[in-house]
Amino acid sequence: MGVLLNKDISLIEAQIYGGNFPHSVMLAGEKYSGRLTVALEIARLLSCLNDKTRECRCRSCRSYDDYTMDNVIVLGSRDYKTRLNAALNSYAILKTDKSYKELLKTIRLLLLRFNANIETKEQNKLNASAALGELLLSVEENSEKNFKLIKSGLKQSEVLTNKESPLTINQIRDIQKWVNQTNFGNRNRFVILEELESCSEGAANSLLKLLEEPPKNTYIIVIGENPAKLLATLLSRLRLYRIPSFNEQQKNEILRDNYFVDGSTYSSLEEFILERGNVATKELKNAATQFCNAIVNKTDLKREELEAISSLVDETVSLKYFLDELIISLGDLFKNGKISMSVAQRYSNFTKESVNKALVYNQNSRLLIDSLYYRLMGEV
Ligand SMILES: [Zn+2]
Repeated sequence: MGVLLNKDISLIEAQIYGGNFPHSVMLAGEKYSGRLTVALEIARLLSCLNDKTRECRCRSCRSYDDYTMDNVIVLGSRDYKTRLNAALNSYAILKTDKSYKELLKTIRLLLLRFNANIETKEQNKLNASAALGELLLSVEENSEKNFKLIKSGLKQSEVLTNKESPLTINQIRDIQKWVNQTNFGNRNRFVILEELESCSEGAANSLLKLLEEPPKNTYIIVIGENPAKLLATLLSRLRLYRIPSFNEQQKNEILRDNYFVDGSTYSSLEEFILERGNVATKELKNAATQFCNAIVNKTDLKREELEAISSLVDETVSLKYFLDELIISLGDLFKNGKISMSVAQRYSNFTKESVNKALVYNQNSRLLIDSLYYRLMGEV
């Protein structure tokens, strides 16, 4: 979301102006804290042909304003489906030029994955991304007719938003080829990598080589939640910057200024995007409560009830949201005197462990929910 840059990035800006911004960095922070927006702002500043101000309208900065730049690729897992649905729904509600532009940008962000023909093995995706890119050229203008074209174009390119597997060795090789392309001349180029925590050791080692001998004019920006989860050798090559989450007031401002909604009715930006992106947050909350009551009262869920919960979580790609809700439900039971502090803590700790495992190993959410259920059922 390009709308999220209301952050203090003065340290980063100072280093860029001073000409000593490092070539390999990690931006660490929670999801929905605007990490990618910051990464793209870094790329914009380092690509600027003029004075690097926020207001600059040079050719390069204009391309960053609508995400038509060609010197950035973004790889790694990201829930594009939900974000695209959220952008589609926002436009359908607001119909403003701004929401139309955001929709186009959300699609172009998705297409940045394919800027470098990185996933050469998946011809169907390359074809779909080319077709979608082609379509975007003809729907610049905000109109109902163009919106319909975009909607059907996205329907035909659903393959692009399938859950991504973690970064592979082949992809790292493709990245290497891309950054060494000659048509960039002396321009800087940027590789943005998300969720490296779950990539294989082989891929991490290839990446390490890239970081050890960085090609000229190349910047590598790693985005992740927890630096401690990266391989130590990788982390040691990256300069770390913390990106704080939005506080209550910032969240409310973002939701008010960009979506005209009352931010106080959403616990987080994530909840808003999930809900607007057609993810059933209420159903997920109910599922978490049901799960929580079962493990606390030791009343077995029926096989099909457990199955329904894990399907819901799996289909909506909302494992972390579900587990967070589960921890909230445990907290509520404790506050209402239904369970003791020690039980609430123990159960929460198991659940948090599962959250971490899910993040590190990119675990199958059905299996994870099943095993968490039996583990917590076995607890006294
Ligand atoms: Zn500029």
